[in-house]
Amino acid sequence: MSEKRVTSRHDRAASGRRFVYVVRSRRSGGLSVGINLDPQQTCNFDCVYCEVIDRRAVARHARRPPVAAAEVMAELSMVLASLRGGPESPRDIAFAGDGEPSTFQGFLPLVRSVLDARDKAGFPGVPLILITNGSGLGRTEMREAHDLFAARGGSFWIKLDAGTEPFYRAVCRTSVPFRRILTNLTDAARRHPVVVQSMFFRSDESGVPSPVEIAAWAGRLADVVRDGGSLSCVQVYTVARETMEAGVHPLGAEALEEIARVARRAVGGVPVEVFP
Ligand code: SF4
Repeated sequence: MSEKRVTSRHDRAASGRRFVYVVRSRRSGGLSVGINLDPQQTCNFDCVYCEVIDRRAVARHARRPPVAAAEVMAELSMVLASLRGGPESPRDIAFAGDGEPSTFQGFLPLVRSVLDARDKAGFPGVPLILITNGSGLGRTEMREAHDLFAARGGSFWIKLDAGTEPFYRAVCRTSVPFRRILTNLTDAARRHPVVVQSMFFRSDESGVPSPVEIAAWAGRLADVVRDGGSLSCVQVYTVARETMEAGVHPLGAEALEEIARVARRAVGGVPVEVFP
C-alpha cells in the first residue's frame, strides 16, 4: 500500500536519505518512521491505483536489488536519534515504501537490527509494522519475521483488494496467483493476528466495485476467520491522492461505509475501519 509515499519521497529527497523517512500519517494518527527497502521501485504488483510510479515505465522483471541493510540501518539510527527527546515520539515504524518488502532476501536479519535500534533509541514501545501485498509471506524467513514482530511488538498489515480472481487481476495486475495471496493471508493470520487493508475506488474504465465483488471480498475475510485466522482489524480505504494512472477516483464516504457494513456482517466482532 502506498499511503505515505508521496510525502516520503519529498522527505527523503529533502534530507538526502534514500531509505528512511518521517511522515505525519493519518493511519497512525501521528508521526510514522517509514522504511523503504526499494527506491528502485521493483514491485511485483502493478496496482491500478498505485501512487508510487507508473510501472509501465519500469522494465518488466527488473532485477530486484539486495537489501542495503547497512545503509538502511545507518539512516534509521540517525532518524531515531533526531526524534529522541523531541516534542513528539513516533507512533510506529513501518516497512512500506516503493516496492514489496516481503520478497526481499535478508528481511529477517534486517528486522532484528531494526528492533534492536528501536529499543536502543529509547522507543521500545513503538510498534513495527509491515505493510505488504502478501506475495512473499510464504517464505520461511517471512514466517520467522512474523514471529519476531509478534514477540517484540509489531504486526503485519496485509492487502486484500478483491474477492474474485478476475477482479484481483484487473486491480493488482500481477502474475502472482490470487490463491497464493489468500493462502499467505490465512497462514499469516493463523500464526498471529493481522490487519487487512483493502483499497476500493471508482474507475473510468470499470466503474465501482459491484455488490457481487464486495460480497466475495467479505467472504474471503470470513474464510480466513473460519480457517482459524485472527484479524485484528479490517481497514477500508479509497485513493487519497492523485494516482499515476488517470481515470482512478475515490469512492464516497457512503459507498465505503456500505462496504464496511458488508464486511462487519461477514466477520462479526472484527473491527472494520473506514478511511475516506
Ligand atoms: S503493491 Fe500495488 S500499490 Fe503497493 S507499491 Fe506495489 S503496485 Fe504500488
